[in-house]
Amino acid sequence: MGKAQDTSSGQGILIVVSGFSGAGKGTVMKKLMQEYDGYALSVSATTRAPREGEEHGREYFFIDRETFLGMIENEALYEYAEYNGNFYGTPRAYVDEQRECGRDVILEIEVQGAEKIKKTFPDTVLIFVTPPTAKELKDRLIGRGSETPEAVFARLSRAAEEAKYMPFYDYVMVNDDLDRCVRELNAIIKSEHMKAGRNKEFILRITDELRTITTD
Ligand code: 5GP
Repeated sequence: MGKAQDTSSGQGILIVVSGFSGAGKGTVMKKLMQEYDGYALSVSATTRAPREGEEHGREYFFIDRETFLGMIENEALYEYAEYNGNFYGTPRAYVDEQRECGRDVILEIEVQGAEKIKKTFPDTVLIFVTPPTAKELKDRLIGRGSETPEAVFARLSRAAEEAKYMPFYDYVMVNDDLDRCVRELNAIIKSEHMKAGRNKEFILRITDELRTITTD
């Protein structure tokens, strides 16, 4: 599917997607990228070990702690956070390149990183993905089958902490239907492009054209 009309400055917008572990945000992102053009998914750097099926450079850049600390030192990251004893961070270069090319860049990051990105780029769109109920989240975590009851409890406790950040987000998306969720996410981003505040150049131009036409 093609890009929607765009009268904005040409630089892609920054979108942060966060959500509880088990909210299904990874699946939503994957489908969004498959179904729509014009998006780039930022690949984070992390010190955690790859899970089965994960590839260096695709899901994450898997690096050691020393390399990560070097990236912090060289200011190569827009933000970083510690999560479950591992570092995660957003490399600057890719975000900048893609936005320059006019692609909207999506960061799938946790709540503290989201807060930092919003401070650095106040016009970032923050979207929080959540299941409809806490019970549903619990069932999904148990349904994965790979978690001990303690690990499920730990994830739910973390979710309770993360929920405190939800009011700070621009949008809350309930993920109870994957296709609808993906359509809505795309619609939110397209609508963001149409905001008057993102179309200052266009507004100035057409205002000027109208002035010229009416004073000829
Ligand atoms: P996982 O280890 O399950 O892939 O990710 C753990 C958490 O780290 C998730 O909430 C994910 O969104 C978050 N995360 C992934 N990359 C980054 C990043 O670059 N920065 C921050 N702050 N969080 C990240």
